[in-house]
Amino acid sequence: MKIIMLGAPGAGKGTQAKMIADKYGVPHVSTGDIFRANIKEGTELGKEAKSYMDQGLLVPDELTVKILLDRVAKEDCMNGYVLDGFPRTIPQAEVLEKALAELGDNIDYAIDVDVPDENIVNRMSGRRACTECGATYHIVHIPPKTEGVCDKCGKELVLRDDDKPETVGRRLSVYHEQTQPLIDFYSKKGILKTIDGTADMRDVFAAIIQILGE
Ligand code: ADP
Ligand code: ADP
Ligand code: ZN
Repeated sequence: MKIIMLGAPGAGKGTQAKMIADKYGVPHVSTGDIFRANIKEGTELGKEAKSYMDQGLLVPDELTVKILLDRVAKEDCMNGYVLDGFPRTIPQAEVLEKALAELGDNIDYAIDVDVPDENIVNRMSGRRACTECGATYHIVHIPPKTEGVCDKCGKELVLRDDDKPETVGRRLSVYHEQTQPLIDFYSKKGILKTIDGTADMRDVFAAIIQILGE
């Protein structure tokens, strides 16, 4: 089962992707998480990616595509995966399609988690991310048991630098310009499924199960 999560930044792709990964036993592959892990480790890749991420811009395709293709070539991805945050441009989607076609393979579903821009700023200003394990919460909608502390690993929760309102506006316009065209791209391939991302996270997940099967 190979799935792509589409949607604006903050739409809930990561939240749903983690639930899909748990239920269906496939790895959750997030390019944002891979970049953040590299930033934390201080790698060259991390330094380069950070210069774009801090401005709310996309990391260039060449860099991003290489990382993603390396990741999905790993053993644990042989039976499928859920991609969260990739592809974000048409060229990225084309490279992925070509790489899969060479293996006689394809993406099964592109799930668009649809949330209007008005809700996005609230989602992102309330998002808190674990500095250790990457788990995400929302201060109002999906709060941790203890404020500021990760339920899963006990480490500190922070507001991501790129979730501050100054950067969110830029990320939304980048989304509309560069990523939203993918909705049409996957619709034409006949694999697009659109779900209402404004519902409670459990209801959103129920809609996804309807698509993927029990
Ligand atoms: P969000 O969960 O808010 O959508 P991500 O964690 O997916 O954000 O990504 C954070 C940042 O990492 C993006 O704003 C972008 O700078 C960079 N990034 C992640 N995935 C990609 C990608 N596929 N192409 C280019 N840049 C990416
Ligand atoms: P994305 O990966 O698309 O950027 P996230 O999964 O990180 O989005 O979700 C963005 C924020 O919204 C987080 O704070 C998350 O806890 C919260 N969130 C996710 N799904 C829902 C939902 N259905 N209702 C309300 N808040 C949600
Ligand atoms: Zn944690």
